[in-house]
Amino acid sequence: MGKFTKDKRDIYYRKAKEDCFRARSAYKLLQIDEVFGIFENAERVIDLCAAPGSWSQVVSKKLTEKGLFKDSNGEDVRIISIDLQEMAPIDNVVQLQGDITKKETVDEILHKFQGNKANLVIDDGAPDVTGFHDIDQYLQSQLMVAALNICNETLKKGGHFVAKIFKGTDIKFLYSQFKLFFKSVYVVKPKSSRASSVENFLVCLQYDPPQSFENSTTKNLYTFQPEIEKIQEVNEQISKQTKEDQKYYKFVTCGDLSGFDETE
Ligand code: SAM
Repeated sequence: MGKFTKDKRDIYYRKAKEDCFRARSAYKLLQIDEVFGIFENAERVIDLCAAPGSWSQVVSKKLTEKGLFKDSNGEDVRIISIDLQEMAPIDNVVQLQGDITKKETVDEILHKFQGNKANLVIDDGAPDVTGFHDIDQYLQSQLMVAALNICNETLKKGGHFVAKIFKGTDIKFLYSQFKLFFKSVYVVKPKSSRASSVENFLVCLQYDPPQSFENSTTKNLYTFQPEIEKIQEVNEQISKQTKEDQKYYKFVTCGDLSGFDETE
C-alpha cells in the first residue's frame, strides 16, 4: 500500500498535522476527556512519559482555556511534563528530563510545585520493547508502580489518573490494585487508538487512598497492607460486576464513531 493511501486513511494522523499536535496520541486524551471530563477541575497536571509532547499540548490548551495563565508571571507552575528524552518547549509547561521510576524525579516534581498538589496525573509511558514478553511485561508494570507512587506523592484527594496499559496485562489484578486508591476505575479504548494496537487506558477517578496507607510513614507500595474491609469492598465490587456483565472491570469505548478509522 502506497504511503499516500495510508496517510489519507489515517484521519487522526492528518488531523494532528492540521491541529498542530506533535502526535496523533493527542486525540486519545481528548476522547477520554469527552467521556470522563478529566479536565473539569484540573488546575495542576503532571504528564508522565510525555515526549514528544502531544498530551502536554492538550493540557496546556485546556488550562489556557480556563484562563489559568492570564495573570501568571510564570512562577506558579501548573503543568509538569517528564520524559527520558528531551522535548521541544511547550507554552506554560515545565519540562523535566528524567526517569519516572527514580526518587529524584518525584522530589523534583514536588520542588517545582512548591507544596501544591496536582488534580490530574496522566501517563502514556511505554518502555523500550525487548521482544521478551515477560521482561516487557515487567518493565511496563514497573512504570505503573512508579506512576501510582507519583500519584501518592503528588495527587490531591479527588484527583484523577489516566495511564496506558497493554494487552496481556492482568487487568483484574490491576483493577483491584488501583481500586484501593481510587473511587472508580475504568478500562478504556479510545476510537483514535488503533484497533490493531495492544494498548488500552486505565482511567482512575477520584483519588481516595486507604487510611492505613495515608497514615503509614513510609508510603511503600510493596509493603503496604490494606485494611481487610477495603479489600472486601473491592472484592465485592469485582464479584458484583462479574454477575452483572461477566466482567471484572468496566470497559468503555470512547470517541466519535464517525471519526473511527476502520483501517487502524
Ligand atoms: N504522550 C506522548 C505524546 O502524546 O506525545 C507520547 C508518549 S510515548 C508513547 C512514550 C514515552 O515514554 C517515550 O517518549 C519514552 O521516552 C517514555 N518513557 C519510557 N520509560 C520512561 C521512564 N522510565 N521515565 C520517563 N519516560 C519514560
